[in-house]
Amino acid sequence: MNNHAPLDYECPICLLLQGRDNKISKQSDIVYKDEYVMAFICVSKGI
Ligand SMILES: [Zn+2]
Repeated sequence: MNNHAPLDYECPICLLLQGRDNKISKQSDIVYKDEYVMAFICVSKGI
């Protein structure tokens, strides 16, 4: 699979999926999550 992300890039969505908060998203932003689907709101502004 081709990946355009820089080597040191930490994907905020992957962190969220792993149960970790990050500077953009927090666990409390997740509206729904099961083994197939995750839905979350975007609280941060100015990105
Ligand atoms: Zn990701």
